[in-house]
Amino acid sequence: MRKLEGLSASPGIAVGPVFRYVDEPAASIPRYDIDADEAGRHWDRFDAALEKSRREIGFLMDGRNKEQNDILEAQLLMLADPEFIPQVRSELFKALVNIETVLQRKIDEATALLRSTGDAYLSERAVDIEDAFGRVMTHLLRGGKASPAPRFVPPGTILAAANLRPSEALALRDSGIIGIALEEGGATSHVAILARAWKIPAVMGVRGLLDLVCDGDEMVLDAVDGVVIVEPAADAVSRYKSMEKSESRLKSAASGTRAALTTAPAVTTDGERMTLRANIALSDETDEARLEGAEGVGLYRSEFLFLGRDSLPDEELQYEEYRRVLEGMQGAPVTIRTLDAGADKMIADQRDYVEKNPLLGWRAIRYCLERRDVFRTQLRALLRASAHGDLKIMFPMIANLPELEEALSILEDAREELQREKIPFNRDMKVGIMVEIPSAAVCADQLAQRADFLSIGTNDLIQYSMAVDRENPKVAYLYDCFNPAVLRLISMTIDAGKSAGIDVSMCGEMAGDPVSVFLLMGLGLRNFSMSPALVNPVKELVRKVSLRDAREVAQSALGLSAPREIRKLLQERLKAYE
Ligand code: PEP
Ligand code: MG
Repeated sequence: MRKLEGLSASPGIAVGPVFRYVDEPAASIPRYDIDADEAGRHWDRFDAALEKSRREIGFLMDGRNKEQNDILEAQLLMLADPEFIPQVRSELFKALVNIETVLQRKIDEATALLRSTGDAYLSERAVDIEDAFGRVMTHLLRGGKASPAPRFVPPGTILAAANLRPSEALALRDSGIIGIALEEGGATSHVAILARAWKIPAVMGVRGLLDLVCDGDEMVLDAVDGVVIVEPAADAVSRYKSMEKSESRLKSAASGTRAALTTAPAVTTDGERMTLRANIALSDETDEARLEGAEGVGLYRSEFLFLGRDSLPDEELQYEEYRRVLEGMQGAPVTIRTLDAGADKMIADQRDYVEKNPLLGWRAIRYCLERRDVFRTQLRALLRASAHGDLKIMFPMIANLPELEEALSILEDAREELQREKIPFNRDMKVGIMVEIPSAAVCADQLAQRADFLSIGTNDLIQYSMAVDRENPKVAYLYDCFNPAVLRLISMTIDAGKSAGIDVSMCGEMAGDPVSVFLLMGLGLRNFSMSPALVNPVKELVRKVSLRDAREVAQSALGLSAPREIRKLLQERLKAYE
């Protein structure tokens, strides 16, 4: 039994076999001569790597559909090929070079031969050879520890990986995995946000995870306490399995109580009304948002429509998607954020652009202002969708007023185009910005003169104001929304919006945490947007506290300097309501 600690990023418990996902480029293949008496040892390594690869493929075949099983079965046959394997052996003993060089040579020969036929079927087999023996090569290169990137993720498994890109995470949604354990990442990484939305338990920041687990190992993922246990003792398995069951019983019981809360308004005991909306990434999440009682969508992350594609979605496809979101929300307001691509969310058009500091680089509005054609296409699709519901749009990562002016002028061009083409759209569609860069918070008064609303993105605002990568567990101690600097920036933004007479909302993860919401209400915030599953917990908080109390506690919090003290103060004040 081996236990590792991390951080709970999406609550829940899962018990099951591990699927180890390694998506790194294979190390370059070394070439060196060997003595005749070393060849036997190289052959043994090859044999062991073959065996491990067969075991992994066998594991992947469990419960797979027929088409996938056929591919894997063919790969198993390749790994026992009565011609290829002996050829590798005789080449090794004849050429006396290391086994990796021999294997690569043989893979290249076999695949070149198949491809030279020009036959589509045989060329496909070449891909299978590369895939199957690529797995063997990975084991050789990495001392048998890693498994190469999977084509399929077996349902019923807990995925263990270093990290996942949002595009990879998207592919997991319907895979049937029961949990996610990552070496990197934090509570506001996009994969954590998605895992919470899809209710997949996740533990992140588990250092040393991949050194400890192999495919098929039994794992307990305790995403309540943020712990993973590899090869747990039998009594731990049964204890966690019963917790897993009572968790799902609790969830269904909670959905009963939730029904009553869902229709109740979010009003404090002294009558102050809050608006709670949902954050979603895909149009088919609107049903859940409505069922959880969200009064609209406060953040639709449009870049997810662009991820995992080889080309950019065209105007028509985007228009249909945005329209689906509006229709799915049945008349409730929807805020769509324009493309926030770049950094961890690289889209097809950005892949060849390598940056030293992607988080500080060519992302979000910066990308859109340069790729005007891409931006204009999205704006046209959004304007067209605005004819079908209460749509607002907002620009991500605005750093200063000139940037906002430029974005607005491109929007105006798109409006004029549509007008000329006599295509209907809502002329009065509200246009806001995300305040997620400290410069925007500091100059929120200037930006508020041109924006119809401000939406505070604390996930990035914390990252940029504290100079701490939101996915790096090593410096996660600084990534805390209760840092006084962050609270001051939030407070300045709320005040600037109030003075300009425009709405201020928050769509960062902080808005979905009831303890933080208590403080934010006290700072003057009235609009909150969060993962659908958090609407009810936040509403419960709003309905049990008074605004007077929230104001008082916020004033005291602003006078403190340590995040820990602020959290303690809030928790203690909330205890009085229990
Ligand atoms: C944020 O930064 O707070 C935000 C909501 O945007 P994202 O998490 O997508 O960066
Ligand atoms: Mg952001």
